Amino acid sequence: MQHFTIYSPVEEIYDELFARKSIRLFIKRDDCIHPFISGNKWRKLKHLLQKAENQQKNHLVTFGGAWSNHLLATACAGATFKFKTTAFVRGETVTNPVLDLCRLFGMELRFTSRESYRDKPSLFQTYFADNTSAFFIDEGGASAEAVQGCAEIIDELQQPFSHLFCAAGTGTTAAGLSNGLTARQANTQLHIVPVLKGAGFLKSAMNSYINRPDNFLFHENYHFGGYAKTTPELMDFIRRFTSQTGILIDPIYTGKMLYAIYDLAQKDYFKPGETILALHTGGIFGLLGKLDKAV
Ligand SMILES: *Cc1c(COP(=O)(O)O)cnc(C)c1O
Repeated sequence: MQHFTIYSPVEEIYDELFARKSIRLFIKRDDCIHPFISGNKWRKLKHLLQKAENQQKNHLVTFGGAWSNHLLATACAGATFKFKTTAFVRGETVTNPVLDLCRLFGMELRFTSRESYRDKPSLFQTYFADNTSAFFIDEGGASAEAVQGCAEIIDELQQPFSHLFCAAGTGTTAAGLSNGLTARQANTQLHIVPVLKGAGFLKSAMNSYINRPDNFLFHENYHFGGYAKTTPELMDFIRRFTSQTGILIDPIYTGKMLYAIYDLAQKDYFKPGETILALHTGGIFGLLGKLDKAV
């Protein structure tokens, strides 16, 4: 794999709310890593691609929904690093800008019934068992390699923060941050904002990867009805945040996470003098499917 330089600065977000509460909010711009191999999707793919290359596999086979940031990232990473790419896409045949971009990057799409989509290893087995160049990548890139890639985010931080916030879908990113903080013995409280309802499964999913299962907190009241569900209140917040900062956030992940921070700040959750770091996990294309609701 050729060298891939990443750019992910930490920037301060100024808001009258934070001045009033004597706290400071910073954002780690993993969305700046790459327009398509964005945010945590690059973090999660990095070591997987290395592993595929080490095993002389040149065909990535992965899984995702029709608006998946992971599919787009894998399609573009495949084109960049010379892998063929195939995706099993959940549900009936559809088209949208994300899938069109995947195709443009050369990804083969195979639409798959929700029922057979559930068993990903068996899909891989059925269609790729004889293909010695095929490399399995789970939905969202979830894997030990992905956790390791996300732990590296902590190594890039140049100053300590009182709090670190991230959005969680599968919890892979959160698990990586948890491990990264443990390894660094950082005195930072990790906060996880699940974007789906009933996040109980997240804890057990994360448990298989983390070294210290007690160094994070969940904020389970910011799912806005469930995965990819939105409310006018959330869309209002996104519009306000984006127009005041110039930073695009999406209603699926980062919008919910930042909403949580602003809401908690409002409710005096943070102590004066504390610093908060929000991880921008990228994936702005999630906004495209909801753009009409945002403006
Ligand atoms: C995929 C994604 C997430 C969820 O990451 P997990 O590791 O599955 O918890 C968060 N934010 C964005 C923007 C994403 O695309």
